[in-house]
Parts: sequence; C-alpha cells; structure tokens
Amino acid sequence: MVSLLLAVVLLFIVLYVWITRIYHQHRQTVAKSGSAHLVSLIKSVSRSDRGFSVSRNKYTNDGTEWQFSDESQTFNGLRALFVTAHPDDECMFFSPAVIRLLEINASVHLLCLSSGNYYSQGEVRKKELLKSCEVFGIPPAHVTVIENRELPDDPNVQWDIHLVSSLILKHVKAAAINLVLTFDGSGVSGHANHIALYRSLRYLVSTGKMPEGCAGLALETVSIFRKYLSVLELPVSWLRSSDFICVIGREEYTQAKRAMFCHQSQLLWFRHIYLLLSRYMSTNTFQRIAKDEEKRLKVY
Ligand SMILES: [Zn+2]
Repeated sequence: MVSLLLAVVLLFIVLYVWITRIYHQHRQTVAKSGSAHLVSLIKSVSRSDRGFSVSRNKYTNDGTEWQFSDESQTFNGLRALFVTAHPDDECMFFSPAVIRLLEINASVHLLCLSSGNYYSQGEVRKKELLKSCEVFGIPPAHVTVIENRELPDDPNVQWDIHLVSSLILKHVKAAAINLVLTFDGSGVSGHANHIALYRSLRYLVSTGKMPEGCAGLALETVSIFRKYLSVLELPVSWLRSSDFICVIGREEYTQAKRAMFCHQSQLLWFRHIYLLLSRYMSTNTFQRIAKDEEKRLKVY
C-alpha cells in the first residue's frame, strides 16, 4: 500500500516537472499564438459588416505594440473588457487572461455587475476589488462596479438578460471596447449570476447589437476533475481546441495570488485550497461566441 502511494506521488512529481519543463520551453510560442488568435478573431468580426475591410491591414505583435490599419479604418490596439458578477471573479477565474492581456499592452477594463453584497459586505468588497485590480495593473478609472437592486449577488435570483445586456453595451460603447470576455453557459462554478452574463453577451451578439468589430469570448467551464488538477491539467487544455488560451508561469501565478489576497473578506480556508489546486489560476481557455449558434438562442 505504501509503495503504491509512493509510486503515485512519484508519478505526479515527474508529471509536474515534465509539464513545467515543456511549458517553459514553449511559453513564448504559446503567448504568441494566443495573441495571433485574438488579432484574427477581431479581424474576422470586422470583416463582414458595413463595408469594413481589413484585407490590406498589417499588424505587428512584437510584444510591445498592437496596431493595424488600412485606408478606411484604424485599429489602435486591443481594448478588452472583462465582465464579471462579483468582486474576486477577476482573480479566481480570469487571472491568466487579465495578466496575459496586460502583458501584450492591451487596455484592460473591468465591469463587475454587483458589489458582492450577499453577506452585506458590498462596501468592503468594492475596496478590495480596486486593490486587486491595482495589483494586476488595471487603473481604477477602468474599473466599474454596478449597484442595482435588480442585480443582487444571489445564486437564487435570475438576472434580467435585457438589463444586463444594456449595461454591457453601454460600457462597450463608452470605452470603445473591441473584445469582451466573460463566463460561458455553465459559469465555471454554475453560479446563476455568472451564467446570466454569458446569456446577456450572447444576446448582444445574436441580435447584432454589438458594435462593429467587437468580439465576445466565453471562459470555458471544465469538469471538476480537470478543474482541480492545477498545472497538471495543462496538456488537456493544449490538446483541446479553443479560440484563445492563456497560460501563466510561476511569477504571474504569484501576482494572481497577491491580487486574490486583496479580497481578505473572501479568504476562507477552502479558498486557499482553491488557489493551490485550481487550473483557473494558471490556465484560461476561451471559446468565441459565434453568431450562428445565437440564432437558436432563447432569451428568458
Ligand atoms: Zn462570482
């Protein structure tokens, strides 16, 4: 029995070392393919409508600058908006994407649809959110927290899709956003507020209300087995197809953890285990929200 346990532990250590080694070897490639995915994604959204053409565009992605332009339209960098439901979502679920986008000089914005007032801690949590964003490098002017009685932090309340989508749209237009990132239809943790964000974004895309050249990405929910494999899950994420993948290393993971430690009111014992084991602290995979599937969308 003891020898079996030792064998399993040894296997995990070997796997961990192996994956870490591969990751460091291919890190640059992974980061670049992710960026290229984003450029082509936004280009593909821009290609179809209202005569906007990017066929003559050139873009550079040397890690310092995002720019492509043609005679009719100029694209001056990536302006990404993370749409979350509660303060700490940005850390617990989106850290790899937030860090990666900031690394490639994207202008990163955050729209949080509630102050997380379920335990009457809304005021405290708003301050914690600003501190967390500061650790990431998101300026306070780019952080918006919505406080609306119709959007309570409550897994038993279904947020109104039309209300949420109108708030997202207003923000997208005001900040000239060209990439919106939120949860997928399972909301990672299954929280109803997370799922409402996906439905709202999908509604905007399906009804053609999303401004020209603005793409939507949904954070992929993985099985509970994959969710708590930490970095050992990485080969699975690499093998499966996704529209955008963000993987961060040890240094960035430390930064993500520091950001999460700003959410002091939420640091219960099980959150520490989450920080240690969750693959969302090191890997994010996104699927593009495509127009085709939205034709079948039911809004309720
Ligand atoms: Zn949440």
